[in-house]
Amino acid sequence: MRNENIFVTKPTLPPLDEFAPYLQQIWNNKVLTNGGPFHEQLEKELCEYLGVEHICLFTNGTLALVTALQALRITGEVITTPYSFVATSHSLLWNGIKPVFADIDRDTLNLDPAKIEAAITPQTTAIMPVHCYGHPCDIDAIQKIADNYNLKVIYDAAHAFGVECDSGSVLRHGDLSVLSFHATKVFNTFEGGAIICPDAKTKVRIDQLKNFGHVGEVTVVAPGINGKMSEFNAALGLLQLKYIDQALARRKRIDTAYRERLEGVKGIHCLKGAGEKIANYAYFPILVQADYPIRRDDLYQKLKDRGIHPRRYFYPLISDFPMYRGLPSAHRENLPVATASSQQILCLPIYPDLEISVVDEITRFIADQ
Ligand SMILES: *Cc1c(COP(=O)(O)O)cnc(C)c1O
Repeated sequence: MRNENIFVTKPTLPPLDEFAPYLQQIWNNKVLTNGGPFHEQLEKELCEYLGVEHICLFTNGTLALVTALQALRITGEVITTPYSFVATSHSLLWNGIKPVFADIDRDTLNLDPAKIEAAITPQTTAIMPVHCYGHPCDIDAIQKIADNYNLKVIYDAAHAFGVECDSGSVLRHGDLSVLSFHATKVFNTFEGGAIICPDAKTKVRIDQLKNFGHVGEVTVVAPGINGKMSEFNAALGLLQLKYIDQALARRKRIDTAYRERLEGVKGIHCLKGAGEKIANYAYFPILVQADYPIRRDDLYQKLKDRGIHPRRYFYPLISDFPMYRGLPSAHRENLPVATASSQQILCLPIYPDLEISVVDEITRFIADQ
């Protein structure tokens, strides 16, 4: 019998004894940060693993988002999704940019390209979509809009580590993509993040911005910030990377088990996976629809009472938080799909060492209401 609480995720940790040699090396050479050898090696190995050209490591994903907007000199208005973690829009406010919320697509819960186009004004300079739950956005449609209106595209790809679409890594699309390596993410360095960029020149600018705008000893070229990843976090990332494929394979098994067991449960809709492309199974989102016997919040509470703690990602919508709800685009009538989805969504526990017996327990409980 289960005697522990089950949370929506549990941080993935590599074997502790394997971390000791990395620490020893840091203690030996006494390089703690500022682009040390582990930092350099992690950038190289992540580029290879993810199939991208250039990566800039950061202390967390939020500072990477803030810096990505600085790097492209984004101002004015940026069209984004209300259906995300609040850091997406906060990164805009921290840059003095006005977020403009557009509604999402019913099937993927990603920004709906038609709604993006309708939200464009003369002040619009960029689009910031999110690959929600690691499901790729409609990248071709978004790029077409960006090309037509001369807009930049910055993907919040915090959920999309390792995800591939037909043309390869989803991270190669848009002007920049931003990853998070937070403890709760598929690949973690405790805290961490990165910007994926397409060319060496942009990488140089981002690397300057994340180090105060410093170039050499006496020159400062931009009002930069401190966004550097330390050697400790980079070393951890290198070790995590050795186990990532194993972790993804286990997540896939759990995803399959959920789908098999929830198929045919009336009123429960499992969001579709990424199909034939490479998914990362970062989340297991279900919609608790009107024909389910009880309401989403009642199911949520009943599961919690049993020691199972799903999360309502994303409820409330970002557009409902106090610093956003006064915006014209934040009105619920502008965001019907996002509003309905946020009232039906439930993310069920998924992490590499979640036992299938717990999946059985959760799905049986959901089916028996
Ligand atoms: C986790 C997350 C972030 C923030 O990343 P941190 O590394 O925690 O700063 C941003 N956007 C989305 C969609 C996230 O899930």
